[in-house]
Amino acid sequence: MKSWGSNSNPTPCSSGGRYASVADAAAQQNTEAVIEMLSQGHRADIQDSDGNTALHYAAWFRLDSLLTPLLEKRARPDIPNNSGECAVHWAAKSSNVMALDAMTRVNRALLSMRDCDGFTAFIVSAQTDNCPVMEWMYLKGVSLEEQDDQGRTALQWACHKGNKKTVQWLLSRSASIVHRDREGMTALHWAAMQGHTIITEMLMEVGAVDLLDVPDCSGETPIELAMRKNKRTLVMAFHKCQIFKLLFGRPHLFQNNYASLFLGFVAFNIILFAFVVAPGIAARNPEAVMTWSILMGLSLLLWVQCLYSDPGWLQPRTINSQSHLMGKDPAKTFDVEQPIESQMAHCDNVLQKLISTCDGEAPQLMKLELEQNKYNYQRQLLREARKRLEEGCGLGDPRSPALGESQPLIAAGFNDAGSRQAQLDRATVTLHERERAAGDSLGRARVEHLLAQGGGEYLSFVEKGDFKQVCVICRTVREFRSHHVKEQGRCVHRMDHYCPWIDNSVGLGNQRSFFVFVTLMFATVLYFYYTVFLYFFDTVFPEISRGSFSELLQSVTSGSLGAEVQPAPS
Ligand SMILES: [Zn+2]
Repeated sequence: MKSWGSNSNPTPCSSGGRYASVADAAAQQNTEAVIEMLSQGHRADIQDSDGNTALHYAAWFRLDSLLTPLLEKRARPDIPNNSGECAVHWAAKSSNVMALDAMTRVNRALLSMRDCDGFTAFIVSAQTDNCPVMEWMYLKGVSLEEQDDQGRTALQWACHKGNKKTVQWLLSRSASIVHRDREGMTALHWAAMQGHTIITEMLMEVGAVDLLDVPDCSGETPIELAMRKNKRTLVMAFHKCQIFKLLFGRPHLFQNNYASLFLGFVAFNIILFAFVVAPGIAARNPEAVMTWSILMGLSLLLWVQCLYSDPGWLQPRTINSQSHLMGKDPAKTFDVEQPIESQMAHCDNVLQKLISTCDGEAPQLMKLELEQNKYNYQRQLLREARKRLEEGCGLGDPRSPALGESQPLIAAGFNDAGSRQAQLDRATVTLHERERAAGDSLGRARVEHLLAQGGGEYLSFVEKGDFKQVCVICRTVREFRSHHVKEQGRCVHRMDHYCPWIDNSVGLGNQRSFFVFVTLMFATVLYFYYTVFLYFFDTVFPEISRGSFSELLQSVTSGSLGAEVQPAPS
């Protein structure tokens, strides 16, 4: 545990005298005492018994009035507590954007400080389903693909924890679904293992259906993991998606099963009408057959119209396919023996492909993202090399000298532990500098991209941390009565509800046609009952139409119910 020293001779003071240190006063949320103690020369960096500083508490309790005095007295936001968490982690946990901004304004790389498990503030936010703060950090240049000590990204953690909103946000920013952690597991593996059905659907929608047959390091595919955990419904859903992908080129036709059920009902009704009811009543009531056919035809037309209508989307779709990251065979882009190197090589391939095929602003942003992602893998390689060196088995390892062919950080040819350690230290410093530069330029590029799309007002709300006014997934300012539809991942203007039967939302754009559809469908159902009544009247009980009740009674008691339902001659 690091010790940052203590004030050996604290000056007594009226309110501050009750506290042993500035950290203790901040822990009691006594801002006056903290300010008084600071003015009397108490050190701002003193840690309490848990290793927390006053800045930790100021960030956690949102004591905004303490931030400036503490930072002016050179309180450092990178001091870890006993769990390795810095004030930056605590600010992220309490969604305190003001503290995050104040603490990292000089050096945004502080946003990527790591705790004992290698968790950054970004990964911690993914674990706690706090995507608005993640959006703020994203716009400051934080990498989407930051990895913890096990190589797990924010997307993998959100999938593991079942944080649907964060998964949707990460997918809307194109967080990679193909990345594998140390165990070779993708985000889909984690979601399948935990049985998070909705999250697996979100992942498959952007292309993870191609990962269903991809084994992890222990040889288990997402389907096998779900099977092992007894998630039978999920296994069936996976197989259904594979069949649909084979037949229609996409994992499913509708977002849910109700729309398919609706089509099934309609098909059953039409068959029943065409082969049973209509032949029975056509001779006497041709107009009834015609009317029901027209009603059903119109209902179906309106259903299709509602299915494809724009319910009043506030923004274009932000969640897009990631097929460009897949490669020809997703299983072959990962080498169990060299998990980090193989993923770096794949990252390079995707980047080269992108450079050769695209030009323009959005691909430029993509290029920067991919370049930044390579640093995450390089960090893992450095960590591995350091670990091997500590274990005394790293010397002479053919994999450790170079971190990627294009940007070697460690030169080959150092074979004694001392010089190797010095090399690693230098490489770490170089990598930090590169990460910082990449983060700064990427933060600027992301903001410029957002402004180019007309997101100025949205940006000002996010900068202030006023997240209630915006939707960070759609990147839009909320309109009056607009709502984010989680099933579709988009905001709808004056949203009424998401209708599973039409597999679409009902909002300002399609509420009239939806109302007409529902009315017409109701009329169609009622008219169907009417035709069934006619069928019984004309065919089953023809005696009623002839007005003879005694004949009807006779036909019922004798079992003779007309030509249609007479028992077949044996
Ligand atoms: Zn939205």
